[in-house]
Amino acid sequence: MKFKIDAMTLHLYSIPLAMPFRISAGVITDKAAAILELRSGDLTGWGEAAVDAVPFYAHETVGSVADLFRNTLAPLLLGREFSHPDEVTDCMDQYRGNHFAKAPVDAAAWDVYGQMIGQPVWKLLGGTHPRFESGPSIGIKDTPAKTVADVEKLLEEGDARIKIKVSPGFDTPYIKAVRERFPEIRLMVDANNAYGIEDADHIAEWDRFRLLMIEQPLDERDIYYHSILRKKVRNPICLDESIHTMHDARCCADLGSADIINIKVCRVGGLTHARRIHDFCREKGIANWIGGRVGFGVAVAARVAAATLPNCTLPSDCICDSMYMRDDILEEPFTLDRYHGTAPDAPGLGIKVDRAKLAKYTASVIRL
Ligand SMILES: [Mg+2]
Repeated sequence: MKFKIDAMTLHLYSIPLAMPFRISAGVITDKAAAILELRSGDLTGWGEAAVDAVPFYAHETVGSVADLFRNTLAPLLLGREFSHPDEVTDCMDQYRGNHFAKAPVDAAAWDVYGQMIGQPVWKLLGGTHPRFESGPSIGIKDTPAKTVADVEKLLEEGDARIKIKVSPGFDTPYIKAVRERFPEIRLMVDANNAYGIEDADHIAEWDRFRLLMIEQPLDERDIYYHSILRKKVRNPICLDESIHTMHDARCCADLGSADIINIKVCRVGGLTHARRIHDFCREKGIANWIGGRVGFGVAVAARVAAATLPNCTLPSDCICDSMYMRDDILEEPFTLDRYHGTAPDAPGLGIKVDRAKLAKYTASVIRL
């Protein structure tokens, strides 16, 4: 059985966030990204390019995604037949990089394929636990007391794994305040590459806070210096921004750069690559979890499928970032039950897009 890519429509959206989201790279107050609607016969598959208007987390932007679809992905894919989503991704990989633009095509292809054969994507990927844990992420606050207050509020709803964003000047007193107030919680920090190897002694001071992990302390492209840092600290090291490809994961394993890899489906170019990197990490004894990005539920759907994979043994981030969104375009948005999410049993990604809401937040449409 084959599926043909008949049409692709890119909905470029913008929505004000419920609250500003601040990380070491800066602050965003509005979310802008792109929703892909992929048509194959009577079937519609959905994907979301989890970028921003500016290169805030990714190097790619809404503008670069739109350009790639117009000039590269549409000419490459339209009218072409595939028998499996992996083939779509392998086909796109004849062109370099642009993982955030390719990821929604991959997700939409999995969505269409799952609907075509009547299976949920998470099962097709090899997922083993449809119910999985997803913990909240707290942006950088003005004072440690404000972070503690946020943590307190989040813990009222359940025993969450708590992640706080840190950067130089907004770190040790914040971690200390949270750890002293909550001695037993599973606490981790994410530096979004805000430190250098010269900060190793400073980062080693956090050993006493018994962190679940330190996520991406060093440069966003670095793998080597993380291997040096890992020898100097006791807290486990997790790589996020540094892992774009299987090659990166191999270097990480061979150098001993991390105990954990956060696989972001958008950053590695979609579910096909996410599953391949996951399988490699499993073989090498590197634990995984699935990272999130602020965005609509279409992006969440792909992450949810990945979060069911067997080596995702740590709490994922994939639903909680939605707390920054004022609204969703899904008829039934993904929700958490005491910080656990569940992958849908419906075929494909198992989502229905509310067309009226999609239109409401869409700033422009590109039909391909
Ligand atoms: Mg991160």
